[in-house]
Amino acid sequence: MTTPSDGVLPAAHASEKAAPWPAYVTASLAWHAGAGVFAIAVPASWPWAVAAIAVNHAALTAGGLWPRSRWLGSNWTRLPAHAAARREIAITIDDGPDPAVTPAVLDLLDAQGAKATFFCIGAEARAHPVLCREIVRRGHSVQNHSDRHSRRFSLLGPKAMTRDIAAAQASLAEITGEAPRFFRAPAGLRNPFLAPVLQHLDLQLVSWTRRGFDTMQRAPADVLARLERGLAAGDILLAHDGNAARTPDGAPVLLGVLPALLARATSLGLAAVTLPAASLQQRGDPAGAPAGAAAAESP
Ligand SMILES: [Zn+2]
Repeated sequence: MTTPSDGVLPAAHASEKAAPWPAYVTASLAWHAGAGVFAIAVPASWPWAVAAIAVNHAALTAGGLWPRSRWLGSNWTRLPAHAAARREIAITIDDGPDPAVTPAVLDLLDAQGAKATFFCIGAEARAHPVLCREIVRRGHSVQNHSDRHSRRFSLLGPKAMTRDIAAAQASLAEITGEAPRFFRAPAGLRNPFLAPVLQHLDLQLVSWTRRGFDTMQRAPADVLARLERGLAAGDILLAHDGNAARTPDGAPVLLGVLPALLARATSLGLAAVTLPAASLQQRGDPAGAPAGAAAAESP
């Protein structure tokens, strides 16, 4: 992995294509092989070989259960350096589109001239295609958040995982006219198969810098406090229009968070932009970062 300090995406993208498995996974495969050879060469050692493999599996599982980890492959937890240098942040809004919430979210974003990225569920996009198109028409971005948002997503094998992500990709591209370039796993949970699947589909995994827990937390002030804490250039914030918690009087929590969050960003001189805009090396540069701009991984 390379980390461009000046925001220029190097030609390393091509070499990343040739090595889809992260080093940690490659090392795990070697660890398995080594344990197997040892157990065969010294049969009495087999309990140790089994234990060695169990420890390795536990570490891989932990990497998949930690959404912001990069053990299992490239994962944006912040925007690329060139976007941070432009004082950009990305507000990402998951699990929609939801006709009860998304239209009001769009109005709040418009009111402050902010742009956001909507990680839409394929099935929800097919259920509400007009709303999905409206997101794009108003200058925001629609990206891939799986087809079904299955609770079992992180248990899928590579074929089932490919089918699910590709189905969402096809639906979102057909509905919006633009193929997504970024993917977020349901609940951020993964397994070691995801990195090569995303590489095959030319998608960049994105998690977040900070999240508001707005699917569970019913008090907008608490969600706002979590998202605002240490707010800085390059941050990727996670919020929800779909599956949004409701305040005690029934309002979706995000609606009570966005105006103050956007005002706070503006007061800090931060601009909320879409992920595709943030991936551009220069504003308005049509030859900006390629879809799998894994090389732009941020610290
Ligand atoms: Zn989600």
